[in-house]
Amino acid sequence: MIPDPVLPAGEPAAGFAGFGLRDELLQALDASGYRHPSPVQAQAIPLLLQRRDLIAQAQTGTGKTAAFALPCLHSLDAGQRCCQVLVLTPTRELALQVAKSFARYGEQLPQVRVLPIYGGSDFRPQIQGLRRGAQVVVGTPGRIMDHMRQGTLNLDGLRGLVLDEADEMLRMGFIEDVTWIMERTPPERQLMLFSATMPPEVRQLSGRFLQNPAEVTVATSKADTQRIRQQLLMVHASQKLRALVQVLDMEASEATMVFVRTKQATVEVATALDGHGYRCAALNGDVAQSQREQVIERLRSGRVDVVVATDVAARGIDVERIAMVINYDVPLDTEAYVHRIGRTGRAGRQGRALLLATPRERRLVQAIERANGQQLEVMEFPDADTINRRQRQRFKERILGALNGADVPAFERLVQELSAEKGLPVERIAAALAQLVQGTKPFAWSAEEPVLSLNPRRQTRPLAAHMERYRIEVGWKHRVKPGNIVGALANQAGIRGQSIGRIHIFDEHSTVDLPKDLPDDLFATLRTMRVVSKPLRIRKLETSAV
Ligand code: AMP
Repeated sequence: MIPDPVLPAGEPAAGFAGFGLRDELLQALDASGYRHPSPVQAQAIPLLLQRRDLIAQAQTGTGKTAAFALPCLHSLDAGQRCCQVLVLTPTRELALQVAKSFARYGEQLPQVRVLPIYGGSDFRPQIQGLRRGAQVVVGTPGRIMDHMRQGTLNLDGLRGLVLDEADEMLRMGFIEDVTWIMERTPPERQLMLFSATMPPEVRQLSGRFLQNPAEVTVATSKADTQRIRQQLLMVHASQKLRALVQVLDMEASEATMVFVRTKQATVEVATALDGHGYRCAALNGDVAQSQREQVIERLRSGRVDVVVATDVAARGIDVERIAMVINYDVPLDTEAYVHRIGRTGRAGRQGRALLLATPRERRLVQAIERANGQQLEVMEFPDADTINRRQRQRFKERILGALNGADVPAFERLVQELSAEKGLPVERIAAALAQLVQGTKPFAWSAEEPVLSLNPRRQTRPLAAHMERYRIEVGWKHRVKPGNIVGALANQAGIRGQSIGRIHIFDEHSTVDLPKDLPDDLFATLRTMRVVSKPLRIRKLETSAV
């Protein structure tokens, strides 16, 4: 739902009727439950109905699709079976979504055909759709060009051309394609450019093609950024993975999108989360289109809870369930940040965004804060106890939520039966069932395991005078606990517990402080040791290093 109605409550769709839109459209809006035009609609629709060219700064979530779709449909000549409206979108998902919106708003208009067209799928159904005379075509630039070149898409009768998410389209390198298409459209068509941000390239494009355009800005919706709580967590680079899991354990209730910089990182992070029992998937440029859609669908339906993606692969994703966006890697520019966090807080819901940054990335963080016009709120990092309490609470809520399930009485009998057959207490059976539900995901963060100290100034404790710091190649990823390390050192190498100094556990490795001048034979034993079935590969660190 769109917040901030600009018109007072009244008859359903009364605000839209004031624009003089066709009845069929008003009926469809009524059916969609739209009561008031959103700010971008209130500003853009009257201008577009006057057939002005328009440049509009509005993000997804502001109702921008209806802002251009309604005027386009209003002035469509359904009797003419040729392409009259062309919408260019940066991604296939957005094309599908926009096409769906056109179809929904135009539901009551007889004989209006809407056709999404995008790369990576079969040409034939697209050609058939075009032959049948689709009047509204929504597509990605590359494939639209292909159809224009091969003569299957004729734009002689075009009345309206929309560039949707123009900034994204240009960022994705579509500038030449978009220009090529625009140059080949009839001069009298109306041009509508919608963009979340207005970088110079978008301005240039607009200056070159739009004629005396009206301008509409929906204040990069304060409502939007207010709906998204933006937080910052400073963390050592080698502790990011663990911080991510701790945050997820603490916060994740619905779907989460995790953004990383590289293809490889999507796989690495997703694999690690998978190991922690999260239902997750990786999205990167190598993932085939069809598979990508499946992932998004699984995220939407709740079969996947975490998607780890690169910026490019995540474009256009619009899933209401996404309650949180985690910037695992800091985005390299502020626009990418805006787009990333825009994946949450959809459809008027509350959203959260977290930026994980290392002390070295302070500058990038400041740039984001400047562009944002506000400082990011520093996240209080929870300790193991708090996380565990929260997890227990959530687990209890899940159980209570299932108490009235249809099969609960049958299961009750089953539990009684099992208890009698095996002489097991009911609590034990309930606990085993809970374990089944929990799967491989550890239920509690162990209290002996020191929780990260995330304040960079308190990252690791200084070395005591008579000690030396060693690095070992087992880390949090391998589920190692300080107890495992102490145990191995004591039992396998005979180092007494009190001689073992501080242990710091990082994602992939750990450090352990041991007395200075270890005898050579003892060090030789240490070198052959394994902990949690991993070779330690122990080596001495410089005093100042970790
Ligand atoms: P958009 O910015 O076009 O992606 O739209 C965001 C969401 O708001 C979509 O789910 C639309 O269906 C919905 N929406 C658009 N306009 C209105 C309106 N006037 N009233 C209520 N919901 C709307």
